[in-house]
Amino acid sequence: MRSYKFRLYPSKIQERLFNYHIWLSKELWNELLEVNKKKYEEERRFFSKEEMQLMVKNTELYSQTAQVVSHRLYNAIWRTVKLRKQGTEYGFPRFKSFDRMKSLNYPQSGFILGEKLKVTPFGDISIKKHRKIKEIIKTLTLKREASGKWFAIFCVQEEKRPPKENKGEKVGIDLGLTNFAVLSNGKVIVNPRYFRKHEKHLASLQKRLSRCKKDSKNRKKAKLKVAVEHERISNCRSDFHHKLSHELVNSYSFIALEALKSKEMAEHNFGKSIHDAGWNMFANMFVYKAEGAGCEIVFVNPRNTSKECNCCGTVVAKTLSDRIHECPICGLRIDRDVNAARNILNRATAGTAGSNASGDETAVSSRKEEATDSSGGSSRNYFKSIF
Ligand SMILES: [Zn+2]
Repeated sequence: MRSYKFRLYPSKIQERLFNYHIWLSKELWNELLEVNKKKYEEERRFFSKEEMQLMVKNTELYSQTAQVVSHRLYNAIWRTVKLRKQGTEYGFPRFKSFDRMKSLNYPQSGFILGEKLKVTPFGDISIKKHRKIKEIIKTLTLKREASGKWFAIFCVQEEKRPPKENKGEKVGIDLGLTNFAVLSNGKVIVNPRYFRKHEKHLASLQKRLSRCKKDSKNRKKAKLKVAVEHERISNCRSDFHHKLSHELVNSYSFIALEALKSKEMAEHNFGKSIHDAGWNMFANMFVYKAEGAGCEIVFVNPRNTSKECNCCGTVVAKTLSDRIHECPICGLRIDRDVNAARNILNRATAGTAGSNASGDETAVSSRKEEATDSSGGSSRNYFKSIF
């Protein structure tokens, strides 16, 4: 399943109606939760799926939208029950406020996508279709973002196409701190600088928000501005990841990556920048896009990838500020991240043909120059640095 997200431009009346239906589904969720809690107090059991389905008949909501609310709650309750039985402490579903309820779901019908999007009971809604949907649409979600903008998210069933033939080379990728990532062939993907710019802006907006009085009108305004900026950053990042992963899986036939737990890494030693880079999100995108592009993705154990010498295997201790890998045993001297990327590639191809990813010394120095060159470019040249 893949999804398309299009911006909606509802009329004032439609928007009021959207919000009303969100409010209705919030009320429905809370009521169902309430009766389930009572049921458990009295009979030591929860309502069954079928019982809950009957309860949500004849609400003001579109029937399937109401069904989704009941299924969600049913699943949430049973997830908690199951996990608690296994001994995991897991929070019981909670009552929702209006802000917590963000979407209306249409799992099968109730909508037609033409020039406009026709949805029961809202009628024709203006929509900006920036891409063509070729696949069969399965579900629709109407979503309100924190910024107050509305979106239609369509999930589609993808047809399986035979993978393209890919004759690209094999490459290992190391995520960097100064750069977004470095490839084992010496190429560098620079971090788009507009993230930093937006983030500075976000920080100042958050500061302003924290100075506002509670429940004041200004606070409400400031909060909205923060939400809008958050959304902008997340869109920029997702756009960057999409384009980059697309380029990479189409250029290389084999890509080795570190199996990272981004959160863990961020907590342990790297701080904010790794979180920013959203490595996990990016890695997921890779896997998903690689299949159709005829590219193989392999994840390797990240242990010591930056310390080991890719040439002789000696572990050379480094601090984060050591930018060059210098091996006292074999004399290899290369960029620290390129060394790591080669280790990653070596691990992924260990025991197979062409597993020597090290290359010769002359190649190394010229590639290194290329790497230094491109990292100093402008904010939008992250592709130029690779291709
Ligand atoms: Zn060495």
